[in-house]
Amino acid sequence: MSNYDELRKKLVSHLERLGYVHSQPVKKAFLNIPRELFVPPAQQSRAYDDRPLPTSNGQTISAPHMNAMMCELLKLEPGDKVLEIGTGSGYHAALIAYIVSRNNKSGHVYSIERIKELADFARSNLKKVQLEEMVTVIWGDGTLGYPDVAPFDKILVTAAGPRIPDPLIEQLIDGGILCIPIGRQRWSQKLLILTKSEGKISEKVVSSVVFVPLIGKHGFEPNVDTED
Ligand code: SAM
Repeated sequence: MSNYDELRKKLVSHLERLGYVHSQPVKKAFLNIPRELFVPPAQQSRAYDDRPLPTSNGQTISAPHMNAMMCELLKLEPGDKVLEIGTGSGYHAALIAYIVSRNNKSGHVYSIERIKELADFARSNLKKVQLEEMVTVIWGDGTLGYPDVAPFDKILVTAAGPRIPDPLIEQLIDGGILCIPIGRQRWSQKLLILTKSEGKISEKVVSSVVFVPLIGKHGFEPNVDTED
């Protein structure tokens, strides 16, 4: 067993102990997707620290406990069509693709990233784990959603916006779940869970979180000051 395999197992035990991982599909995904292949080479020795790590252009790969929390909140099912806003390294998309493709069901993840260099980085990382067929990475403004293939069973946003983008609510299927952090960085951002049932939206605050800003037409302006 390699050092990374051991560290991965330790991380999963830690996430289970703290209650972030509590279902078998999420546990299996964490054990089977090597996080060290998704972080830049300079960060590889820290790949199994439960903390965010820098990718490029001032962006981050989220902490594993946040990936776990969002995967569990979304109640991912085999065959789900999922939209992710904020591909970053592609790690979270890989975990989700693994979960929605179990039981021989062909679930799919559409993941949008606004920084081209990161969209390319994610595509090459997804190839390393043979998940490139199950994740479509799109370079663009994710606050517009992806109407070409909507509606989606589940939608997650991995950057914090000022409000829930209307296109994402429209593109969520009836019965679907949307998970999004809202608020300014370093102010109190809240992770929200939205469900749609018979066209009615219900919203619940899950916890306080810290994410990079969601920048786009239905997000913040590109020069948003998130440091105060
Ligand atoms: N899910 C990622 C992973 O597994 O590595 C981490 C995402 S990182 C915390 C947030 C990402 O959202 C950044 O890469 C950032 O460039 C991206 N982002 C911000 N606004 C966006 C938008 N409007 N559309 C698409 N991506 C956006």
